[in-house]
This record gives sequence, C-alpha cells and structure tokens, in this order.
Amino acid sequence: MLTNGSKVIAKSLKAQGVTVVFGIVGIPVVEVAEAIIAEGIKFIGFRNEQSASYAAGAHGYLTGRPGVCLVVSGPGVVHALPGVVNATANCWPLLLLGGSSDTYQQGMGAFQEMDQLALLKQHTKYSARPASLLQISNVIDSAVRYSIYGRPGPVYIDLPADLIQAETDDQKLTIKGPVPNPAKSLADLGAVERAALLLTQAKMPLVIIGKGAAYARAEHAIREFIDHSNIPFLPTPMGKGVVPDSHPLCVSAARSKALSDADVVLLLGARLNWILHFGQPPKFSESVKIIQVDIHPEEHHANRRAEVSLVGNVDLIVGQIKEHIPANCHNVRDSPYLGPWFEKVKANVAATEKKLKDDTYPMSYHRAFWEIKKRLPENVIFVSEGANTMDIARSIFDVQEPRCRLDAGTLATMGVGLGFAIAGKRVFLIVAKVCYPNKHVVAIEGDSAFGFSAMELETAIRANTPILIIIINNNGIYHGLDVATYKSTPDNSLPSTALLPDVRYDAIAEAVGGSGYFVRTPDELGQAVEEGLRESHNTCVVINVMIQPGGRKKLDFAWLQTTKTKL
Ligand code: ADP
Ligand code: MG
Repeated sequence: MLTNGSKVIAKSLKAQGVTVVFGIVGIPVVEVAEAIIAEGIKFIGFRNEQSASYAAGAHGYLTGRPGVCLVVSGPGVVHALPGVVNATANCWPLLLLGGSSDTYQQGMGAFQEMDQLALLKQHTKYSARPASLLQISNVIDSAVRYSIYGRPGPVYIDLPADLIQAETDDQKLTIKGPVPNPAKSLADLGAVERAALLLTQAKMPLVIIGKGAAYARAEHAIREFIDHSNIPFLPTPMGKGVVPDSHPLCVSAARSKALSDADVVLLLGARLNWILHFGQPPKFSESVKIIQVDIHPEEHHANRRAEVSLVGNVDLIVGQIKEHIPANCHNVRDSPYLGPWFEKVKANVAATEKKLKDDTYPMSYHRAFWEIKKRLPENVIFVSEGANTMDIARSIFDVQEPRCRLDAGTLATMGVGLGFAIAGKRVFLIVAKVCYPNKHVVAIEGDSAFGFSAMELETAIRANTPILIIIINNNGIYHGLDVATYKSTPDNSLPSTALLPDVRYDAIAEAVGGSGYFVRTPDELGQAVEEGLRESHNTCVVINVMIQPGGRKKLDFAWLQTTKTKL
C-alpha cells in the first residue's frame, strides 16, 4: 500500500512510545500533525512555539523520554529555539521536528526558507535531515538515542516539504522503536571507597542534590543513603523533593552556613555553576573537598577540582557509596559541628515565620505566600517563575516529591511557566494518574513572567489541562509603581521596570472560558485559593494578587558578581 512522509513520521514516533506532541502547525507540517493524531497521539497546539518548546522540555524532564515539539519552517523553528537552548542548559531530552522548504527550492528564497540545520547544529546533540522516506524511522531512532543517552539534551530533525509529501510502498519500510532506556553505569570501586572514607571521616559533611538526581529517578537510593548515613542535605531549586523538604536532615533554611562550613560535599547531579556559586569561596570553604557524581565525564572538575570524581549514574553510585559507609556514621544531635546548622535552621525558620504573618497593606510577598501555603495540598506540581516571586517562593513552599518543582532553571529563562504547567498537568493526568490522582498543578508567577505567555491560557483550556495560576502582581519587573505614582510620572521618565499598574490578568482567564479572581487582601486571597483549588480540577483559574508595588527595592545581585573589573 502507498504511504507518505507524514504517515512514516507519525508511525515512527508512535513506535518510539510518543504519546503527546506539542507545537504549532502551518505549511508544511499540518499533514504531519494530522497523521500524528490519526496514530492516536495527542497533539497540543500552542499559540507561540516558544511555550510549545518549553512544554516539550519539561515533558522530557518529567518522563525521561524526549518531549516532542513540531513546528513550521523559518520563524517556527526560530520561535522554538528558546526551548531547545533551555533544554541544553537544563540537560533535558527534547526532540524538535522542524518543517522546511522544498529541497529543490532551497537557496532560491523559498517560503519561510532558513538554514535550520546549520542553526540547530550548534544547539543540539544530534541534528539531521532524512534523505528519503526509508531513512525517516532510522533518523528518529538515532535522535531519541542521542537525546536520552549520556547527558540528556535536545535533538533536531529537519523535515522538508517534499519529504513530508513523498510517497512510497509501505512494504519497503522498516519502522524502528522504541529505543531502550539508557543503561546505567557504576563508578570505579577504588574511587567509591575513597569517597566513602572522606564522608565517614568528615566533621561537617553535606550532600547537595541537583535536578540531575531528580531526572535520574534516584530518589529511593538517595533517601536510603541519607537515612543510613545521617548526613545533612541541601537540594538545588529543582532538586527539591528528591528527599522531602520536611526531612529532619534538610538544611535548606541554613543554606549559606552549611555551604560555607562544609568540609566534604557530596555533589549529586548538580553543576557547580552560578546556582552553586561556582563551588568557590566565600560561599564554599577554601578547603572543602568535593565528591562529584555526574554522568557527563566532561563536567568533572569544572570550576573547582573534585577530590573524588565518580562518573556514572547517580542512582547506582549513591548505592555503591552507601555500602562502604557505616550506618549512622554522623550523629547530628551530638555533633558539635553539625548541631549549629540545625540551630541556624530553627532561627531562620522563626525569622521567616514573622515575615509571613506581617499584616501591612498592600501585602508583601511573604504575606501573600503564607495565605497560599496554608491552603495548598502537599502533593502539587509547583511551577515558579519571576525574579522576586521565584526567589522568595523557593524558600517558603516545600516540595515533598521528586520532579514536582519546575522553574526558570539553569538558564533563568522567564516565560516558561505556562508551557511547563501544561506539560506537568498532561504528565500527571495521563502518565502518572495512577500514582497521583487529582494532582494539582499550581503556577506561582510574577506579573512580568506571566506576560510572556499569557495567551497559552487558551491552550491550557483547549488541551484540557486545568491549572491554577497565581500571579503575584507588583506592577512590574522586580518592582513597579502604584497607580498614583504611575499617573504622575511623565511618560519619558517611567522606569524600565514599570508595567501598567493593576492590570486585570484575571480577566484574560475569564475571556478564554476559565475563572479569574482579583484580590488585594489576605482574606480575599485565602478565599480565592480555596475556590481556585476546587475549580482547577476542571478549568484554568487565575488569581491575580495585588501586592506592594515597591517589592524588594534594592536590586541585590551581589551573589552573582565576583570582582568588578576595570576596563
Ligand atoms: P542543578 O540546577 O540542580 O544544580 P544541573 O542541571 O546544574 O542541576 O546539573 C545536573 C547534572 O546532572 C548535569 O551535570 C548532568 O550531567 C547530571 N546528570 C543527569 N542525569 C544524570 C544521571 N542519570 N546520573 C548522574 N548525573 C546525571
Ligand atoms: Mg512583578
């Protein structure tokens, strides 16, 4: 029987176990999307490719298989590039499928013509254009392998219009799939023994848990390791939940002290980049010994020489180290070294508690978060973006389960929120519905961050992925102006950070058939959260929370700066 390029692409994706494709159709990929739908794969059409590509990245992170994004040529591919770059930065598997102009027209100024392969080559682990229908399945298979083997990352396949439309006899085709999950490798035994000895003899050992550990599904091994050794731990923002934040050995609330005191650090699937202050003084001690566990050989010894370098799968390596460490080798309660960390945790928690209950009007970030925190169920998928909103929320909202926090990530990308929330809800509705019935996806967004992808509310409602979005609205980026100040400021001297004050983001939700709340007081917020949680089982809800426009006035980026250079 005759078949065509679209059908071969769809069948190959199906054979790889793909259940959802994110994207936007147009020439020349409408037929591809239709063939995908005919294969029983869900197609979620977005309003801008940017969000579709973010959704695909998050889907990859949550499932361990590449999230698939289908876009048109030229501008479609360019708009999807942010998700690809974000996936590289976060080490997430993503498969971008880009339509492209007819091969015989290339170089002639064809419709939406662009050298996409050249562009994507720089930003992916693998990029290719199948030369014929016979090659399509093979190329998709290679792309999937590259995306999940070794350090995960994005891959690209270029699909010219004439390939999509070409026909052949299906007897000639072999459809490959699915690519087996990656094999796991152990680390060198001698190095494991040295790591275990260092950790046993350390006075102030600390485990740092990164999103590589979350991606690796190493939660069982790491929880066992922590409970066995009694070593305190600290998650990175997306490493939260691998071990519950409520675990008594979590020292998040005394982060700075633990980082600067620690004499031995076990680094599990986290990079010593800006998020961890490059592993350098003054945040880390000059003499700290790092035990680095990472799947990516080239990552080892980056920014700071590791004392022990363990290359392989964090899930298995943690188990290896555990075998060589005596049970309860650290007795936190009696340790003169570790005791002060937990004193500091207590003091910091008490200081935050005070801020949470501060009743000044308009509300502060803390006050608003307290009203929300009191009411959120424990097992939500928590999406967070925005500058102050994300920063402050990180320390206030605990995460108890792995891969339940999605944020701006390694690249600090703003605008990811709605794409991530839609992908998160999709995964928890379909893939994990048995484990997490009725799991809520809650996105806590700065007003500016929300603005990057507000129209995706329509996508979320159409795709039947109900989410609760809480916008912490301070009328601007970092901070904004109140209505009176805004009105009295001449146009040409408005600060670059200011947005229109009191924008009714909640009305956007209503305009697309969702539910909106506009709140100014803690009581109104509390009530809206309760109703929003009920409603967001069935529809999208936006709670637009007006807080102090002044926010945290001082832009304190000292932790990002090292020394100022004179030019
Ligand atoms: P965080 O932002 O939480 O610090 P990063 O994204 O910086 O995390 O680092 C994650 C690290 O995890 C990357 O260096 C990546 O190579 C590594 N990684 C990914 N998967 C695995 C795995 N299965 N085993 C070990 N390391 C992994
Ligand atoms: Mg703001």
